[in-house]
Amino acid sequence: MLSENLKSVKGRIAAACERAGRDPSEVTLVAVSKMKPLEDIETLLADGQLEYGENYVQELCDKYEHISRPVHWHMIGHMQRNKVKYIIDKTVLIHSVDSLHLARQIEKEAAKKDLTADILIQVNVAHEDTKFGLDAGETLDLIREISLLPHVHVRGLMTSAPFVDDPEENRCYFRKLHELFIDIRDKNIDNVDMDILSMGMTNDYEIAIEEGATMIRVGTAIFGARNYS
Ligand SMILES: *Cc1c(COP(=O)(O)O)cnc(C)c1O
Repeated sequence: MLSENLKSVKGRIAAACERAGRDPSEVTLVAVSKMKPLEDIETLLADGQLEYGENYVQELCDKYEHISRPVHWHMIGHMQRNKVKYIIDKTVLIHSVDSLHLARQIEKEAAKKDLTADILIQVNVAHEDTKFGLDAGETLDLIREISLLPHVHVRGLMTSAPFVDDPEENRCYFRKLHELFIDIRDKNIDNVDMDILSMGMTNDYEIAIEEGATMIRVGTAIFGARNYS
């Protein structure tokens, strides 16, 4: 089942790339495994799926410790500053940085471990009250400040679009984030490489790909619905 789901998502990625005149190798699939058992990850690992996204620090650390062989963990959820120390050397990318406060904490913990942390800036492009992320208009200034932190490396932008019935409604947000991404990339800021645009989830990843996503975060379409009760 999981393997078939993965295959089907990959087929849809390829089709969306084809429509957009893009090469599927330009799009990295992060399988969002939050609230799903380690066995599910082991199954997909056997199929060659290496990138996994988690929202909760404790869950990421548990899975990190018990997985049979190393995978690439992505921190995609909102994070309290006092939790940074637990994941700093366990993740390949932190998608959810939306303040200088948090970036400074990442700098501090990365410096202690003598590593450089790759991060994305989370933008609330649809201005939803319920979502984390900063306004598009604040993004460039924040990136300029973070670029001065030697152990933090900005790699791009991330957003979570609203949950809507018709994913076409989110196209404008993806387009807007892509434009912002290009604008900032064109500034050629030292210590900033704008090469990752993380947008698109189960409901809207094909549209996100058509609008330039280089990384999509897909949970439900691969693992099935999550049980929050
Ligand atoms: C849960 C989550 C996803 C995956 O959502 P699905 O709709 O299950 O694909 C992607 N990104 C973030 C930030 C999430 O919290």
